[in-house]
Amino acid sequence: MSTTVPALVAASAGASFERSTIERRDVGPNDVQIDIAYAGICHSDIHQARAEWGAGIFPMVPGHEIAGIVSAVGADVTKHQVGDRVGIGCFVDSCRECENCLAGEEQFCLKGNVATYNGREYSGEDTYGGYSTQIVADENYVLSIPEGIGLDVAAPLLCAGITTYSPLKHWGAGPGKKVAIVGMGGLGHMGVKIAAALGAEVTVLSQTLSKQEDGLKLGATDYFATSDPETFKKNAKRFDLILNTVSADLPIDKYLSMLTLNGSMVFVGLPENAQEFRVFSLVGGRRSLAGSNIGGIRETQEMLDFCAEHGLGADIEVIDADQVDEAYERVVKSDVRYRFVIDTATIAG
Ligand code: NAP
Ligand code: ZN
Ligand code: ZN
Repeated sequence: MSTTVPALVAASAGASFERSTIERRDVGPNDVQIDIAYAGICHSDIHQARAEWGAGIFPMVPGHEIAGIVSAVGADVTKHQVGDRVGIGCFVDSCRECENCLAGEEQFCLKGNVATYNGREYSGEDTYGGYSTQIVADENYVLSIPEGIGLDVAAPLLCAGITTYSPLKHWGAGPGKKVAIVGMGGLGHMGVKIAAALGAEVTVLSQTLSKQEDGLKLGATDYFATSDPETFKKNAKRFDLILNTVSADLPIDKYLSMLTLNGSMVFVGLPENAQEFRVFSLVGGRRSLAGSNIGGIRETQEMLDFCAEHGLGADIEVIDADQVDEAYERVVKSDVRYRFVIDTATIAG
């Protein structure tokens, strides 16, 4: 048994999006049904819809920045009620018994969590994401969106927010720490806001100075263009933490040269290609090169509450269903300020 709901579907890798329908499972005892209001467009959607990370599961309905209202709950649901403002991020289930799940780090589930789309439920069903009007998910993987954050500006927090919040917390961004955010896109602009709200001194490293004014308004105190070779000299050995949100290849050694003693450069951007660096760039300053992947459910809720407390949401451009292909092109050209969010009411046509 299932329900047919409207969705934006890519039939094959790189295909344009078409209005179509998908099946959502009936609401089980532990399930929450959500009427989706907004779905953010993450660069990961583009990587996957274009099969840049390997073959994807098609037809594909991307979207893991989902915000909406609960429209039905199963008999055993205790965490959410009809009418609640809720969100779903990058995964909709995990094994719940491995050490990482038990520690609240379901993003690192040892069995492999169930991705919100381009994934498979443990029962074998394909998963479909937020470019749709409704979704059904287990209550434990549904977040509460606090009052005070609009659903439209909250949607991107479910990926861009947590993906920057988690490493900023883990690597101790706060008062007295110098943090550089590389890339002023969807993740990057949230990284700037969150790092500043945590009390760190924030510098943006962008390809050009075209978004400098915005970066300073969002909380950065410095802004440099990486197209200018002087940037790397001026900021030599400066940063405790460099958070790299770039979706493309970077000359990593040049970035490592800007880390202070014991500094860390953390990748959250996921370029298609293997990256290169010289070991000498690390050992000279006892530096670390690391990576981070979204965040667990508990930390995602903590991030949403933190954003509400600090009045943070994403800077967005709301688009209709028929503008998604064009939005993808613009994201790839770094022409987004700073997240496209689909008004899912326009999907039904
Ligand atoms: P985005 O909005 O496209 O932002 C990426 C930014 O990177 C751009 O705005 C641009 O910033 C910079 N950039 C793009 N091409 C570049 C190039 N050739 N050289 C240097 N800089 C370049 O993308 P996003 O949604 O923030 O996602 C960023 C990356 O993170 C993607 O690879 C995505 O898949 C990945 N991601 C990872 C996780 C995780 O958990 N690890 C979660 C979500 C997303 P400037 O214009 O300022 O230079
Ligand atoms: Zn994402
Ligand atoms: Zn697990």
